[in-house]
Amino acid sequence: MKVIKFGGSSLASSEQVAKVVAIVKDDPQRRFVVVSAPGKRSTEDIKVTDLLIQLYEAKLAHRSLTPLVEEIFARYLEIGEAFEIGEEHLAAIRIDLESIAALPIENNPHLYDHILSRGEDNNAKLIAGILQAQGVTARYVNPRDLGMLVSDEPGNARVLYKAYNQIKKWAQPDGVLVIPGFFGYTEEGNICTFSRGGSDISGSIVAAGVKADLYENFTDVDGIFAAHPGYVHKPEIMKELTYREMRELAYAGFTVFHDEALMPSFRAKIPVVIKNTNNPNCRGTKIIPERDLTEKPVVGIASDEGFSMIYISKYLMNREIGFTRRVLTILEEFGIGYEHMPSGIDDISIVIRSNQLDDDLQEQLMRKIAYEIDPDELRITHDLSMIMVVGEGMRQRVGITAESTAALARKRINLEMINQGSSEVSIMFGIHKEQEKLAIRTLYYTFFD
Ligand code: ASP
Repeated sequence: MKVIKFGGSSLASSEQVAKVVAIVKDDPQRRFVVVSAPGKRSTEDIKVTDLLIQLYEAKLAHRSLTPLVEEIFARYLEIGEAFEIGEEHLAAIRIDLESIAALPIENNPHLYDHILSRGEDNNAKLIAGILQAQGVTARYVNPRDLGMLVSDEPGNARVLYKAYNQIKKWAQPDGVLVIPGFFGYTEEGNICTFSRGGSDISGSIVAAGVKADLYENFTDVDGIFAAHPGYVHKPEIMKELTYREMRELAYAGFTVFHDEALMPSFRAKIPVVIKNTNNPNCRGTKIIPERDLTEKPVVGIASDEGFSMIYISKYLMNREIGFTRRVLTILEEFGIGYEHMPSGIDDISIVIRSNQLDDDLQEQLMRKIAYEIDPDELRITHDLSMIMVVGEGMRQRVGITAESTAALARKRINLEMINQGSSEVSIMFGIHKEQEKLAIRTLYYTFFD
């Protein structure tokens, strides 16, 4: 039995929905269909979720909601009419969108989430209606009835452990169940959404709950590229990678699959496959617990920009008990999280996301470190990019770091930092952002044809 999730671009128009219907019909094992809200039909287009954000803003500003309600409804109407679904389905969507006007603004911390959730909720109702009209025994299931219980963290909910036991009860469905992604209900019955792009998370939770054999995540690409296609001409598509590898790649900017979506499938050991709605016969990229590591030591090269590095050096630092703790306490006092912390005998580098700092905060932070730590040398470097060479196979092969650094050196790319944990899933290089593209290309051609 399979759980299948369609992203916004797969549901953006009637033409796209026709492909979705064919995919659902093609395999009777596809019993749970998790849907996003209609996405962009072209690069200039706007997602229904973003229109709903505008609707929320209009409501707060006490502007008329009618033009936006009409614009959003038109998206569903175009799709529904093309499939000649029953009038009642479309009427219900209109009523639901119009009912937003009556929601209270005051003392309503869940208003934003409630409004945003309408995108997926109405789409699930629409797709269920379309599947029925196409002869499929299908029905809409509300996340509350399903048991999608989440923490009370508006805009950033997490699934509650007990949700899995509730969802398990649906494991033998009578026909195809269509479930809206992106949101769940708190124990008090309020709607809370996951973070943006969170329908991937919903699909993964459903797959884990019903113990699916496979979680199929349909997007608009043939799979996950081994490097950014904007940096490398026609990069390879990965056939297989492990959850750990995917986690590392997602961290460094591979956004095809939401990084929080991995955990539920990973815990339940359910394989995930990323496939293309526009090319469903392509095998896609499979994310699995273990793979044959001899096949490819490196699966992908990722990068992310926007890092700063605080460098602290102090002679005999290694003998000062509590040195690192004191530095980290200062960061904590300033509410700054760190990403990486490679260290030497007498020095330590702390890599942080630059967006946590402004000029003022930086000055106060550096002053405090200088005063409390009394270092011999203290400096901060900005505009760094982190390049990750990812592959569990490097555990079993000598020389991946050597090959990487040699290739980067040949291109005169200066390494500000190197970091490799003992798990050996990735090697990370901190470089100046201007050299990011060149570094990605260089590393890609070192490990791929
Ligand atoms: N519609 C939501 C968003 O645009 C969630 C999703 O598509 O996964 O973020």
